[in-house]
Amino acid sequence: MNMEKIIDENKQGEALVLNTNNKNTRKLFIESYGCAMNFSDSEIVASILAKEGFNTTQNLEEADLVLVNTCSIRDKAEQTIRKRLQKYNAVKKINPRMKVGVLGCMAERLKEKFLEEEKIVDLVVGPDAYKDLPNLIKEVEDGRDAVNVILSIDETYGDISPVRLGGNGVTAFVSITRGCDNMCTFCVVPFTRGRERSRDPQSILAEVNDLAEKGYKEITLLGQNVDSFLWYGGGLKKGFKKASDIQKATAMDFAQLLDLVATEHPKMRIRFSTSNPQDMSLEVLHTMAKHKNICDYIHLPVQSGSTRILKEMNRQHTREEYIELIDNIRKILPNCSISQDIITGFPTETEEDHQDTMSLMEYVKYDYGYMFAYSERPGTLAAKKLEDDIPEEIKKRRLAEIVALQREHCAFRTEEFLGKIFEVLIEKESKKSDQHWAGRTSQNTVAVFPKENYKVGDFVMVKVNDCTSATLIGEGVGFSDNN
Ligand code: SF4
Repeated sequence: MNMEKIIDENKQGEALVLNTNNKNTRKLFIESYGCAMNFSDSEIVASILAKEGFNTTQNLEEADLVLVNTCSIRDKAEQTIRKRLQKYNAVKKINPRMKVGVLGCMAERLKEKFLEEEKIVDLVVGPDAYKDLPNLIKEVEDGRDAVNVILSIDETYGDISPVRLGGNGVTAFVSITRGCDNMCTFCVVPFTRGRERSRDPQSILAEVNDLAEKGYKEITLLGQNVDSFLWYGGGLKKGFKKASDIQKATAMDFAQLLDLVATEHPKMRIRFSTSNPQDMSLEVLHTMAKHKNICDYIHLPVQSGSTRILKEMNRQHTREEYIELIDNIRKILPNCSISQDIITGFPTETEEDHQDTMSLMEYVKYDYGYMFAYSERPGTLAAKKLEDDIPEEIKKRRLAEIVALQREHCAFRTEEFLGKIFEVLIEKESKKSDQHWAGRTSQNTVAVFPKENYKVGDFVMVKVNDCTSATLIGEGVGFSDNN
């Protein structure tokens, strides 16, 4: 399909690379909420609909079809979607032919109920049913509402080459697994994205080859739980037990996939997300140490520092096992930065459990993190079995303490860069100055420095002269030999 590359601008004024097919006449407005998986899925959807004559547009009022890729991880995320749908009501008055569809986890969680609760919605499609979109759109155009929320045991969209949406032409997501089998008691993902399955490494490699040819410099291998990637010919991860000896002998795990992609593309920066401590192996750490182009950064959600709460969350590791993994990371990858996810106020959490979380943070001193108060999610094991018994004001106070401590640790970690020189990949213009570029180090820390003769996509050696708790401030001292 001959896609034309045009440069547009998003709401933040950042340069956007939009791929359009000038034969397509229909307009698709697609917006994504939530995790990187949703943003990656929206690129799959744009590709499926490009074959149906749709080009993406940034202009809502000219859209024939509006799709919202929704998130259900917390109640607040769903409220954001409902508010957004209200906005479409106004636009529909200007553009009555516009059809509205909801995709993603909230669509999967609510199913047909979404049509009853939000009258503007014509189409409800779950994360595994995007290939059915052409049929569903026909049904809507014939005046019927359309729903497909069937979860799959083998769909990985490995045969769809994504249409890159709103990217910078430098970094891209490459999904490697779908679904999750871990059943953490607070989490809706296993119910909204189904059972775990891995994508064929050859189709992953083909996508990375294509990105390299198009000049991309960094990829993020994506999954709810990338460490449990296991390819043995297709199908559910849990089917591996019944796999044949040849399938077991030729199976590929995450460390082997990392090694394959890093070896095939030594100049491509490689990141991965999200990891689960219970599935992360030492082989992964040794593979990261072996390849300079695998970034020195691990996002390692912990959720709580209390072994008792981890048990209530059905996290398959203790505080001690998590600390042992941190110690191994520090030993094998001394320059590696680590970020966290933490939930405060989980049912039955005591002050002592909270202090366990604070002391674990003090031990690790994370580079940064994503911290939230517990939000009960309908249908999860915690919602069924545990009363949401921690008062809001206590949740808020504990969250404030954790956020404040993390801010101290962010500053501690960025100060470690002072006076040193790091390789930075330029991604865009600095938000604060059009005389400066912004990019990230291998440690995923943002750095800004004067533009001089550098350009987006360059690997530049940057001397760090100053910093805030989140950003390094420096000067370019030449191109990296990786450039
Ligand atoms: S590992 Fe746990 S928190 Fe992460 S997606 Fe799976 S069930 Fe949810």
